[in-house]
Amino acid sequence: MMITLPSRLAPLIEQRVSELRDSTDTGPLGEDYRSIAIHYGALPLYADIGGCIALKPTGEWLFFHSNQRWNPPEEVEPLDANAWRAQALRVGSKKYPELAEMLPRRPDGARDCEPCSGRGHFGSRDCAWCGGLGWR
Ligand SMILES: [Zn+2]
Repeated sequence: MMITLPSRLAPLIEQRVSELRDSTDTGPLGEDYRSIAIHYGALPLYADIGGCIALKPTGEWLFFHSNQRWNPPEEVEPLDANAWRAQALRVGSKKYPELAEMLPRRPDGARDCEPCSGRGHFGSRDCAWCGGLGWR
């Protein structure tokens, strides 16, 4: 799914993708993240046991399933779930602070998330229903 990025963010995300392409990060996900930057031109923001969520400078969100390597010709699909995009932005904006302005603001009349009682987490684990926001 495409979203409209704030215009000043697209070049910043492009720069982050470029930095990631040239990165020498050898951490647990370093090679996989670099592959997403190289092959998809996308910035990985969040990964868990299910897969990885990445954002392109065009505003397109991608999801890579974890049952594969994260490089072509493996399976990748658009990401439509608002809660997962919020989760990826919350986590990704800790590393890339410029993304914080894209976090959804709680609209008037939004309800507290029932599963997490509005906390956004269960202890140290983020709530998957609301993406850690605490409301839906
Ligand atoms: Zn919740």
